[in-house]
Amino acid sequence: MTENILLIPGPVVISNKVQQALGTGSVSHTSDEFVAVFSSVLKKTRQVFKAGESSQPLVLAGSGTLGWDIAASNLIETGDKVLVLSTGFFSDSFAECLQVHGAHVDKMTAPLGGVVPVSDLRAALTPGGYKVITITHVDTSTGVMNDVKEICKAVKHVSPETLIVVDGVCSVGCEKLEFEAWGIDYALSASQKALGAPPGLSISMLSERAVSVAFSQKSQSCFYTSLKRWIPIMQNYESRKASYFATPAVQLINALNVALDEILEHGLEERIAKHWTTSDWFKNKVTEELGLELVSANARVSAHGLTAIYVKNPPEVISALKNMGIVISGGLHKDIQGEYIRVGHMGESACNDSLQHIQSCFDALKALEL
Ligand SMILES: *Cc1c(COP(=O)(O)O)cnc(C)c1O
Repeated sequence: MTENILLIPGPVVISNKVQQALGTGSVSHTSDEFVAVFSSVLKKTRQVFKAGESSQPLVLAGSGTLGWDIAASNLIETGDKVLVLSTGFFSDSFAECLQVHGAHVDKMTAPLGGVVPVSDLRAALTPGGYKVITITHVDTSTGVMNDVKEICKAVKHVSPETLIVVDGVCSVGCEKLEFEAWGIDYALSASQKALGAPPGLSISMLSERAVSVAFSQKSQSCFYTSLKRWIPIMQNYESRKASYFATPAVQLINALNVALDEILEHGLEERIAKHWTTSDWFKNKVTEELGLELVSANARVSAHGLTAIYVKNPPEVISALKNMGIVISGGLHKDIQGEYIRVGHMGESACNDSLQHIQSCFDALKALEL
């Protein structure tokens, strides 16, 4: 069987070392061996989010979506007002999750391929009353990236009491994100995108302020996602004490440990820079050499972990590439679903020195004479 090159925006190709770490035998979740690994994972998670000692890392079995439920069930009580900045499918799904948990959601929807102007956001926040704002750092449905730093600055200025929640599922590990310096209260990510691990882990970070909101909730209708239950467990593991609320995903955490080592090996900055270089290379080639158009309106709002490209017949392009051994994704935004393709370039595929994955993808697209 020839192995396909997986170039979708998650799951991504994992390195051999990460794959080996996933294949280790079972150990007890309370063994010294595992406790040491989990402690190290939590410490490295702080580094990847650029969070210090006052922030609280959280690594739970579950996918990226679990982070939405964690935010909604711990930071929101029925009737609380939330402002959602929508840049596509994932922002909208997060809004739906918040509504399920009883939030009153107001949505500001960006023009397709663009972002909500910060001046509009300031105006919306001025009357006050929003307990939470949600920002999708990179909306994987469009490849649009928000300027989270600038948005945080505006929120701090106009409505400092509003908690800032960032969906970084498609950004942590491949875009600049400074949890503490920018004043983010909750940032959520997942293992299978730019962190370069297998799917199955929700990885997130809470500010001191978010932790105290979670602990002072009057009523809570969740069990597994309860931060009151999980935070003491995370703190114990980090300080190398075995602890139990629900069984952690032992092998996945072992694989994440190796993936985080690979990210931090030459420094987070270099890792992010590699993603940017790969992304710029690919985007330039498809626009200049193939004359194709991107969904993201301009370079300032373009993500670096994936590229969304308008093509004439997406299903045909996807199946032609599949026949050449390259797996890419179709569109996901309701307004243009059948009009574009998405190519993921995160983790190994973006950082491996040879860059042969993305080169093969470009060559295949070129051969189709789109
Ligand atoms: C992939 C993704 C999600 C959902 O993650 P799952 O692991 O599929 O649950 C949420 N938000 C963004 C921005 C994503 O890219």
